[in-house]
Amino acid sequence: MKRRTAGFVMILLFALGFFSQICSYEKVNPLGIAGQEDGESGMLANNSIYSKKVYLTFDDGPSDHTDEILDILKKNQVKATFFVVGKKTKKAQKQYQRIVLEGHTLAMHSYSHNYDQIYSSVEAFGKDLKMLQDYLYHVTEIKPFIYRFPGGSSNTCAKNIKPFIQYVNSHGLLYFDWNALSGDALDFSISSEKLNENILKDVRKQKNSIVLMHDLHETKNTVAGLDNLIKILKKEGYQILPITRNTKQIHHVSVDK
Ligand SMILES: [Zn+2]
Repeated sequence: MKRRTAGFVMILLFALGFFSQICSYEKVNPLGIAGQEDGESGMLANNSIYSKKVYLTFDDGPSDHTDEILDILKKNQVKATFFVVGKKTKKAQKQYQRIVLEGHTLAMHSYSHNYDQIYSSVEAFGKDLKMLQDYLYHVTEIKPFIYRFPGGSSNTCAKNIKPFIQYVNSHGLLYFDWNALSGDALDFSISSEKLNENILKDVRKQKNSIVLMHDLHETKNTVAGLDNLIKILKKEGYQILPITRNTKQIHHVSVDK
């Protein structure tokens, strides 16, 4: 009996540790969501609409790695999606502009990335979102409409995410979670090989993958492995695309419209 109680306590502690981490970074594919089938015939051929699709996404930038990421994408002629936060420096402004000018999708990930503030109320959430949208429009002349909730829609910091989702839906915005991840923000020391292995393990299971990576000062191993990741994906016949209005959405949590 005692042993059973100890086992239960261990499981509880593990679960608490697990959920408490989700608030700081997007680390998990919490529902184990696999790629949703796109309703096509199941035929797979390179360079056709039937190809398996991979959407590379970078959260939390711009950072001191953004230009290097952009260089690697350019060299490989690949477009990606940047879920950015608000940064006022001249360097950051140039990076937002470069993302747009080089054909990537500039998407939003909150201005402050401060969970307590953003999820304190729908009003605070809306104010933060609008501040980022207006700022990016001012800097790039592009009004972004694609959003990723800090922590994903499945984050446990917002006690009830649904009103926030309703806000996004009612303002004509689209939100995207992910169904493949490297774990680069889970442990900054994970090697680039292991990060890529984690991504490929998810991607190979599904036809449509939205890959979560981070553009943080600390996630240098993501940058170190990016060129190789793209080369492997191309070799294996994946189409690498930026998220657009027409991209099949991956939602961890959704509400009826
Ligand atoms: Zn984030």
